[in-house]
Amino acid sequence: MVSRETPDPVSRETSAKYFDTPIAAAAERASQVLTPGGAGQLPRPREPRIITVANQKGGVGKTTTSVNIAAALALHGLGVLVIDLDPQGNASTALGIDHRDPDVNSVYELLLGEITLAQAMQRSPAHQRLFCVPATLDLAGAEIELVSMVARETRLRNALDLDTIRDNDIDYVIVDCPPSLGLLTVNAMVAAREVLIPIQCEYYALEGVGQLLSNIELVQAHLNKHLWVSTVLLTMYDGRTKLADQVADEVRRHFGDKVLTTVIPRSVKVSEAPGFGMTIIEYDPGSRGAMSYLDAGRELGMRAERAGQEGQNR
Ligand code: ATP
Ligand code: MG
Repeated sequence: MVSRETPDPVSRETSAKYFDTPIAAAAERASQVLTPGGAGQLPRPREPRIITVANQKGGVGKTTTSVNIAAALALHGLGVLVIDLDPQGNASTALGIDHRDPDVNSVYELLLGEITLAQAMQRSPAHQRLFCVPATLDLAGAEIELVSMVARETRLRNALDLDTIRDNDIDYVIVDCPPSLGLLTVNAMVAAREVLIPIQCEYYALEGVGQLLSNIELVQAHLNKHLWVSTVLLTMYDGRTKLADQVADEVRRHFGDKVLTTVIPRSVKVSEAPGFGMTIIEYDPGSRGAMSYLDAGRELGMRAERAGQEGQNR
């Protein structure tokens, strides 16, 4: 693990060092490739978009997608907050946030109402507009502790203080869920408007997706009528196999235009990046993995208008 500076607590001051990070250089290069003749900025959504990245199947790319889409959006000039709702803390690690220190302010204390969102947020060293509420191992017990609590399903929604979100110019809140449909994931779905489902281009890709969709319907019916599946992303695509194409076709038949045109390729570099406390965009900005997450972020960002309208219709 490469050591990095301890991330700053949230401050509205802009520190000069952020303009000199590898990710800033990556942004420059990537935007030149993607938008020859000028860096493409994405539109700011009218309201902050709150997106839950969920799939109870393990290892399908939820965390990789959360952190890399977040970094891609930040690179395009948007303010992004990642909420790590998985006790494994992988999103925190990939964003270079220390979450092993038991004293760190984390999403656990936030859910318990012991700290505010402003106290829980940290700026990622990856980018000045990228923030994270880290997860510590304490969160492992939260699933059980929450059961007996008042308003157990709405704790995250209540903790997402809109003033803090606006004060820090946050345009996107991305919640990385654990691989289960327990109370933590329910909290994420109650707090969000949109669900992004990463689907791995592998055998049994759609296994469990039916159950995920029925849980989303239950949340819609009882806890959050605004929730909808806005986005599906195909991950770990291996173009050499017929299977990957078959899975992609099947997912597109099933979900139609919710599926992003961009497909994330399987790439060793993508899996190496978190080991260095980095997103793929920082770790190897010119790689196919980085480019595809930049594309996916742009596609998601370009859909802001549509997402806003859909949300209002609910
Ligand atoms: P969990 O359910 O445990 O939270 P997850 O759905 O968050 O898992 P990730 O942790 O993002 O999935 O990915 C699972 C593993 O696959 C990780 O080791 C990750 O580095 C690797 N991985 C993710 N995306 C890719 C990719 N495009 N190419 C190669 N490896 C990948
Ligand atoms: Mg994960």
